[in-house]
Amino acid sequence: MKVLKERILRDGRCLPGGILKVDSFINHQMDPVLMKSIAVEFVRRFAGEHVNKIVTVEASGIAPAIMVGYLLELPVVFAKKKKPSTMDNMLVTSVFSFTKNHSYDVCVSRDFLGPDDRVLFIDDFLANGNAARGILDLVAQAGAELVGMGFVIEKAFQHGGNMLRDMGIRVESLAVIESLDDCKIVIRE
Ligand code: 5GP
Repeated sequence: MKVLKERILRDGRCLPGGILKVDSFINHQMDPVLMKSIAVEFVRRFAGEHVNKIVTVEASGIAPAIMVGYLLELPVVFAKKKKPSTMDNMLVTSVFSFTKNHSYDVCVSRDFLGPDDRVLFIDDFLANGNAARGILDLVAQAGAELVGMGFVIEKAFQHGGNMLRDMGIRVESLAVIESLDDCKIVIRE
């Protein structure tokens, strides 16, 4: 997606350890016009798939996910990182965070994810695929079906994308980062 790639090259910053900072337009300050274009592209790529629910993980996945849900007029569920005391009937799984270097639980109420759901998972980044694996586990626990996964940015030098595609999952990434070596952003053409 050209406009996204140009924006990453213009405003993205590298941090040591293979982390791309996009907090001026995606995951702190957000550009809603870019976010709408991102959602339009996801809708185009997954057209023809029968989806009835968008799922993401808080917090950074919520913006692109809700834009997709808005365009498709579908409900959007975000997996929560803290189990709310007011919620029972929860599905829970553990996810290892690459950026924070520790594991945390994510949970979804059975009220909002069940056997009738055909899920499109949307997130900001795909790195090692741990968040995606957690969502796969929640979808399986719910008896729902995963239709595909859409990521705003995939870091191809980590291997979540290969792992998910090898599992037969349809993965669509709008910008693929080949390398952040020497703090230089290299994006796949
Ligand atoms: P994974 O679970 O695929 O290893 O990592 C995905 C999650 O880690 C994303 O939801 C995102 O929040 C975070 N993440 C991974 N790599 C990066 C990165 O380079 N930059 C930022 N800002 N977040 C990242």
